[in-house]
Amino acid sequence: MTGQRTVPNVFIGGTHLGGADDTFKAQSENRLMSLISPPTADYTYDLVVIGGGSGGLAASKEAASFGKKVAVCDFVKPTPVGTTWGLGGTCVNVGCIPKKLMHQAAILGQSIRDARHYGWEFSEEVSHKWETLRKGVQDHIGSLNWGYRVALRDKSVAYQNAYAEFVDPHTIKCVNRRGKETTITSDKFIIATGMRPRYPDIPGAKEFSITSDDLFSLPYCPGKTLCVGASYVSLECAGFLAGMGLDVTVMVRSILLRGFDQEIAERIGLHMEKHSVKFIKKTVPTRIERLKEGTPPSLRVFYNEDGAEKHLDVNTVLMAIGRDACTTGIGLDKVGVMLNQKNGQVIANGEQTNIPNIYAIGDILEGKPELTPVAIEAGILLARRMFAGSDVQCDYVNVPTTVFTPLEYGCCGLAEEDAIKQYGEDNIEVYHTNYMPLEYTVAGRDASDCYAKLICNKADKERVVGLHILGPNAGEVTQGYAVAMKCGATKQHFDATIGIHPTVSELFTTLSVTKNSGGDIMAKGC
Ligand code: FAD
Ligand code: NDP
Repeated sequence: MTGQRTVPNVFIGGTHLGGADDTFKAQSENRLMSLISPPTADYTYDLVVIGGGSGGLAASKEAASFGKKVAVCDFVKPTPVGTTWGLGGTCVNVGCIPKKLMHQAAILGQSIRDARHYGWEFSEEVSHKWETLRKGVQDHIGSLNWGYRVALRDKSVAYQNAYAEFVDPHTIKCVNRRGKETTITSDKFIIATGMRPRYPDIPGAKEFSITSDDLFSLPYCPGKTLCVGASYVSLECAGFLAGMGLDVTVMVRSILLRGFDQEIAERIGLHMEKHSVKFIKKTVPTRIERLKEGTPPSLRVFYNEDGAEKHLDVNTVLMAIGRDACTTGIGLDKVGVMLNQKNGQVIANGEQTNIPNIYAIGDILEGKPELTPVAIEAGILLARRMFAGSDVQCDYVNVPTTVFTPLEYGCCGLAEEDAIKQYGEDNIEVYHTNYMPLEYTVAGRDASDCYAKLICNKADKERVVGLHILGPNAGEVTQGYAVAMKCGATKQHFDATIGIHPTVSELFTTLSVTKNSGGDIMAKGC
């Protein structure tokens, strides 16, 4: 029938493509997948991604690499004080990137103090200039914004700097900065709109406080600062601001770092206190007043403590009390995408919403880690499943993370309390140690907060179910061990691995004291 006398005779949708060579050729020319799932002629695009952040950019570029017609809409609504930014989403503009650079500024401050012990002599008093740091950070972000635009163009992804809203499951309305409206249709959509900081409903909050969305581009030094909230964002910002020599207080409603290993969270609190961060615990702000305008202004924050109203005068209030999913006002109600009514996050099976052609990735997904590499991985794998016949799902288990406070806390897997809940106290063995990073010795630094532990499941050959390390460069240490945990490493694998000397990371290859034994874990030199 085909005239081709060899096998295979490849048919796609009833049309004869040819033999193996023709099939491989179609694949190498990026034609194969569009033959298998041809674009629906009625729609302008095969895929439109709403949100040009970590997840959205990754998904759109991956989809375009399969020859698909793809567009991205990204739009940043200004903060209450008017801050806005370019393409790339939270991580690049107001999250991981500026945060890590400011963390580095704090680390350098410590390194300068250490340097004298290592023989460096410098006569002048060292001081920190916020404006120089801000400019360096913002220049770098500017270059990243530009790089993202070029990358989209190189991949032939259409970019619209416009706010998107669903009209029906295959149509969105896009409104640009000048209010110009366009309509776009697409076969499939990915929602990747991320989250924005929440404000408490108290007088003065929106008028006088800022959030992490404003901090990294603040044109003036924030001065004496109150950070409200006790999770990632608040503690990291408090840490680097204190590291730059500012007077910093953290207001804690309940506990530090909810969801993280609480033994380590407490150690972080102690360490921050030793490094001049003050804590006001078990309270929340009730109102904020401005005493004096200025850059920075003078603010008065009221709160209740022991039944009495108290106040704290500061220059800056940084609200870091959590983030709301950007899922309202984008027409999800019109198309019927199911949301968790409490937190506004999208309920999905993997990344598939209840509407067949609409998917969601990144921070807006309910119950998934709100981290950049998670959004990227989910976006890439989803695009491959959509357009390249893949069936590989994103694995949200054992996602490593690091809190940069500035003493870093890296972890992967379960907190000790969660491991006990999941496996039972009798089945858990915790190996732990305090340790002294070598570089602390000559500098005469206090290492009493440097700590590491491995949580193992005795009922499963001591498989490592939680790894925690508090100390310098913990992020770099944790990443590699996360691979080991993905491979199902047991305590025996850790013991059989030879360490790299002298590093902090090697301690995981020699852990011998269990918590149960009550043995001595004080830091020993080598
Ligand atoms: P985003 O990156 O937030 O992108 C969403 C984009 O969609 C935004 O540009 C938004 O403006 C746009 N948008 C929203 N609605 C619309 C609409 N209707 N139309 C068009 N565009 C729209 N993660 C880490 O892994 N490591 C870290 O060190 C880290 N540090 C952080 C520090 C801070 C201060 C914060 C706030 C977050 C940090 N995160 C960190 C978290 C990380 O930034 C997020 O997990 C990640 O950015 C989520 O990516 P996303 O694609 O889901 O959303
Ligand atoms: P979280 O939701 O994790 O924490 C909110 C904090 O604010 C909690 O301490 C909470 O206290 C407190 N809080 C909530 N409401 C109030 C209130 N009304 N008054 C006072 N305090 C309040 O939010 P974050 O903004 O810190 O982080 C959001 C996400 O961003 C994280 O889950 C993380 O995934 C990501 N991120 C990642 C980073 C990294 O990888 N290094 C860094 C920064 C963010 P309580 O415990 O009592 O509820």
